[in-house]
Amino acid sequence: MRYIEPHAHMVSRTTDDYERLALAGCEALCEPAFWAGFDRSSADGFYDYFRQLTEYEPRRAARFGIKHFCWLCINPKEADDTVFAREVMSLIPQFIERENVLGIGEIGLNKNTRSELKIFEEHVQIALDYDLPVLIHTPHLEDKLKGTKLILDSLASFSKLDRSKVIIDHVEEHTVAQVLDAGFWAGMTLYPESKCTPNRAIDILETYGTERIWMNSACDWGVSDPMAVPKCALEMRRRRHTPELINKIVFENPKQFLSQSPRFKL
Ligand SMILES: [Zn+2]
Repeated sequence: MRYIEPHAHMVSRTTDDYERLALAGCEALCEPAFWAGFDRSSADGFYDYFRQLTEYEPRRAARFGIKHFCWLCINPKEADDTVFAREVMSLIPQFIERENVLGIGEIGLNKNTRSELKIFEEHVQIALDYDLPVLIHTPHLEDKLKGTKLILDSLASFSKLDRSKVIIDHVEEHTVAQVLDAGFWAGMTLYPESKCTPNRAIDILETYGTERIWMNSACDWGVSDPMAVPKCALEMRRRRHTPELINKIVFENPKQFLSQSPRFKL
């Protein structure tokens, strides 16, 4: 099997994980900019993080034949201070043209505050200015439904936005239909403690169809599993889904969405 891991935070993973991903058939991996497990004390911390995402991680992945791509932004968890957020955002232009940068992400909401929403909208505008795709994070658990609605309402105010270039990630049973019905892509995150289990994700595919949807591990500094996508593919096989359908979900769909970035080349 070959597959694309469309959402992984490899800065918090070991090199052994890259080897396991390669052994499982991972050809390309995409790393959204996010919280690093701690709040950074200055914009310089993000400058180094963006260097890590665009210089160091691609080299680490290449040792195992994996293409590494990334997304840039200040994540919603650290974006509540708008002055600080804008300082970080002012770094984006000097990194945005680098060869592994796909677009703007993962932006979104964390606690659904007014400041987070303002910074979210300023990021969407950057993506429009550069004509690049957008990857959106939705909040966890009890904040998810409200946050998803706020995000959809906000996106509706961008008349020039091409919805096929926007993916809204971490959807669950109660948010997936709104996202797909509005014309956006949806991402399902396979996470051991919160978010979807493989069986819940497969139920969602069987209920809502297999167009404009992908799945990812979103592995990071927390309890998470870099092998979540191949494990879910195995479970799909056990549930008698065809190899063609599995390939569509784990390879063709992410390829289709990501190819909208001029930098995504396998
Ligand atoms: Zn993430």
